[in-house]
Amino acid sequence: MKDQLIYLLELQTIDTKVKELEAARQGLPTRTEPLRRDLGKLETMLGGERQKLAETEAWKKQQAELLAREQEALRAAKGKLQGSKTGKEYNAASREVDNKRKSIHDREAELKKVSEALSGSAAVIEERDGAIAGLRAQLAAEEAEIATKVEDLARQIAEASAGRDELRARIDKGWLKTYDTLAGKRGYAVSPVVGGTCQGCQMRIPPQLNNILARMESLEMCPRCGRIIYRKEMIEPPADAAPEPPPA
Ligand SMILES: [Zn+2]
Repeated sequence: MKDQLIYLLELQTIDTKVKELEAARQGLPTRTEPLRRDLGKLETMLGGERQKLAETEAWKKQQAELLAREQEALRAAKGKLQGSKTGKEYNAASREVDNKRKSIHDREAELKKVSEALSGSAAVIEERDGAIAGLRAQLAAEEAEIATKVEDLARQIAEASAGRDELRARIDKGWLKTYDTLAGKRGYAVSPVVGGTCQGCQMRIPPQLNNILARMESLEMCPRCGRIIYRKEMIEPPADAAPEPPPA
């Protein structure tokens, strides 16, 4: 029975270590999530600004075309003014020339404003582009670092798991099943008894059971937490064989 207990303790040491490494490995990729989220938001914002810029540019182009047409109309109106034969014709052509001049003036002012706004938003977009490129580089560097750590942890897990299958093969199937169930439900399955107290649940075990444990003839379970128990002083396992009991 002592052999079985020692195998179970060895298995527990391996499983505890592997579980710890697995938790570290699983936690790693989530570290870049805040940065990834920020980057996504900035990219969406920038996309909106680019769209607005494109729309304003299209509008500006349209205004420039209208301006060209008005300038042509002004030339025609000036021609009419020169060719006017009556005072009535002259007045009408003169009004037309004035009107065209005014609308050309207004449109030119409008175009100037739009051009200024365009160069302003182009500068903002360029600046944001730079910031986003910086964040992308930061994310890539962090991801590369994480990938290295994940690989390293995978190697450590493989190392820590060495001999686990052979160990399990040596353990009685019934106890192995108990061990697996307890490990799943309670975090760990085998607990030392120190001074008559189960270290898994801090319950004092009946003195009779404590005496049975001293004989090392059978595997016993704690009446309260159900863990497989043993008298610590009978085994003196390595310090890390039994994990710290969870805080009550
Ligand atoms: Zn217990």
